[in-house]
Amino acid sequence: MNFSSVDFLLSVHSLKQLPIPDLPEVAFAGRSNVGKSSLINKLVARKNLVKVSGRPGKTQGLNFFQVADEFYLVDLPGYGFARVSKSMQNSWQDLISSYLETRETLKCVVVIMDIRHEPKKMDGQLLQWLREQSITILPVYTKIDKLSGSKRQKNASLLDAGHGIKSSERVLFSAKTGQGRDELIVRLSAVLQP
Ligand code: GDP
Repeated sequence: MNFSSVDFLLSVHSLKQLPIPDLPEVAFAGRSNVGKSSLINKLVARKNLVKVSGRPGKTQGLNFFQVADEFYLVDLPGYGFARVSKSMQNSWQDLISSYLETRETLKCVVVIMDIRHEPKKMDGQLLQWLREQSITILPVYTKIDKLSGSKRQKNASLLDAGHGIKSSERVLFSAKTGQGRDELIVRLSAVLQP
């Protein structure tokens, strides 16, 4: 599967705008500033496909990209940014949860967490909700270049325990070094198989 042939398709702000579900789909979720844009750019080997956020929390739709003739990559708005009002958080949440619940071609949600952080409540809530919906989850712990080997393993284990994730399930990733990119591609290719 060629992950570097990628084009921006559209930004969706209401369910009516969703593209016809004619390809399998993978969505990417994470707290604001977790490194989601950097991960997607690294995955598709583009420097600036997704704008790395100088301004977290600005209103954003669900950004659809088409990867070759193979699948849609969906960049979900980052969550958990304190400066966004509650009502805006709620309307984002409504759109995103309706999309995730109803999208028949959705194969997997990549949930990105920062390896340096303790288990975050909002990530836990998202993971639990996705499990309740029987949506396949691919957890990724990113920014691993920021921790040395033993600290990296220790923090990965803390996140595993805090979120009920098996170590065999998740991918360790660095957008800086590219570590984990090949494994992420293998995992995504597997969930995208017809
Ligand atoms: P987003 O808000 O989740 O899309 O996060 P961004 O991709 O904009 O990244 C937030 C900040 O973290 C930026 O300054 C990135 O350069 C930095 N960053 C993201 N991923 C990594 C990584 O794997 N390693 C390092 N060292 N920095 C990263």
